Amino acid sequence: MARYTGPACKLCRREGTKLFLKGDRCHSDRCAIEKRNYPPGEHGQARSNRRSNYRVQLREKQKLRRMYMILEKQFRNYFIRAAQMKGITGENLLRLLEGRLDNMVFRMGFAPSRATARQLILHNHFEVNGRRVNIPSYQVLPGDRVSPREKSSSLLVIEESLKGYGSRGTVPYISVDVAKKEGTYTELPTRDVIPVPIEENLIVELYSK
Ligand code: SF4
Repeated sequence: MARYTGPACKLCRREGTKLFLKGDRCHSDRCAIEKRNYPPGEHGQARSNRRSNYRVQLREKQKLRRMYMILEKQFRNYFIRAAQMKGITGENLLRLLEGRLDNMVFRMGFAPSRATARQLILHNHFEVNGRRVNIPSYQVLPGDRVSPREKSSSLLVIEESLKGYGSRGTVPYISVDVAKKEGTYTELPTRDVIPVPIEENLIVELYSK
């Protein structure tokens, strides 16, 4: 399965904002954005600040895509699905991305980042409603329960991450029973409660050209 394997912090510096790709490091003063908040590369600091409409829209799309670690083709497919659904396309897009299993595992606190969540899922450590699922893009639906498999629930990375549940922020559409190591996707979120600081209307404009 294709995915970006380069340095994560470079992506944040390119977008000029924290994309939270590295777990606890993102919340510390070791974060590259705290130290060098300018684009990477030899001419990073000298880059032009001219921002055409297209450039603003493109950067917004790249930011969201990189936050959820999705390649271009898959991201466009999400957009097509979102546009075909009832309701507001931008909100539908965010709901689809939030419903990904790797995002759920991350938001439920079983992993410190989406990258780790993805790795754990690929290695068969998670189940949805009691059935093993090893597809990071699997779409979790409201009412679904997500938990580590019995043999995986004592993995150090999961235990350590769960200890920090809450410190990285929680969302109202997910409930977690930390003692049982089980999370539930309780309801479809509305845009105002999805903690993703982007302007999705710019992405809709970009793809509607
Ligand atoms: Fe981005 Fe996290 Fe690296 Fe900071 S530490 S630049 S938020 S990936």
